[in-house]
Amino acid sequence: MNSQNFQEIDELHWTLGLIQNLEVGLVVVDRAGLIKLWNGFMENHSGISAVKLTEHSIFAKFPELPCRWLKQKLESVFLLRNPAYISWEQRPYLFHFKSNRPITGGAPFMYQNVTLIPLTSPTGEVDHVGILIYDVTDTATGQIELQQANDQLKALSREDRLTGLNNRGYWEECLNQEFERFNRSQEVSSLVMFDIDHFKRVNDTYGHQAGDEIIRAVAQALKDQARKTDFLGRYGGEEFGAILTGTNGENAMIFAERLRSRIESLVVPYAEHQLKVTISLGVSELNYEQQTPTQWLEEADQALYKSKQSGRNWVSLFGDYN
Ligand code: GH3
Ligand code: MG
Ligand code: MG
Repeated sequence: MNSQNFQEIDELHWTLGLIQNLEVGLVVVDRAGLIKLWNGFMENHSGISAVKLTEHSIFAKFPELPCRWLKQKLESVFLLRNPAYISWEQRPYLFHFKSNRPITGGAPFMYQNVTLIPLTSPTGEVDHVGILIYDVTDTATGQIELQQANDQLKALSREDRLTGLNNRGYWEECLNQEFERFNRSQEVSSLVMFDIDHFKRVNDTYGHQAGDEIIRAVAQALKDQARKTDFLGRYGGEEFGAILTGTNGENAMIFAERLRSRIESLVVPYAEHQLKVTISLGVSELNYEQQTPTQWLEEADQALYKSKQSGRNWVSLFGDYN
């Protein structure tokens, strides 16, 4: 052997050593899906040595792989002779490997970016594909945590602190959306607005904190009675709104009457007192005459005013005053 040959053998040796110790997974498969190379990273994370896998079908050895999808991807790399990239956001992982930091990292598995590279033979044919697996668990969990924090912030910015109901700003957004939705789908919804009766007296007699307890209890009664699809909001100090989706005026009146009676029998313990309040409610059904969401709201408010005039602890439907 001449020195040229020796140098080539040395280089091959180094290359193999590098591939073996790379902090990236490397798998080579042929057109039939037979495994030709399985590097140290893949051995460590799968717990299966290369000897057991070489010349075996990757699909037979890893039945949990997304077989149809991966076959299609590989086929397009063979055909187009271009690399393909799959990010963890499209598909969290290709091989289900344990995360290195399952406890501190909060990831149940290793997130992976995957690159498929066409490998050309000396004759110019693409007869193998290299699959590179990058561990991107840190990036992925960081991004997911950030997204969760943002979602939490968003929820907080929508929430009324005292009651946990939607705050006025967000609730009005829901009202607008429901109004728009009606114009598209013609599915009727109703609005119930209500206000606690003689609330100033409660504050004046028992103090502001007692008042807050009552507001909380009334909000809870509202939550208990509503459906998941309803939008509940604290509109003002002791004023509330409920958008009852898919509910007509008649059924909204039944809802309102039940809530009125529920609040009437509600007892809120505060210090040595047993506090009781009543509410007045106004109901308005969505219809084609209302031009804006504000008009829908004003109709419910008018009905509420009517209930106050009728002596409070009362329910009125807009346009149906006898
Ligand atoms: P009405 O039956 O006509 O509604 O009489 P009212 O005394 O309830 O009158 P109104 O609705 O106008 O008064 C609201 C009062 O509610 C004014 C304020 O003292 C009190 N209030 C508003 N927001 C809060 C709050 O967050 N906590 C407490 N404790 N009281 C509030
Ligand atoms: Mg009020
Ligand atoms: Mg009031």
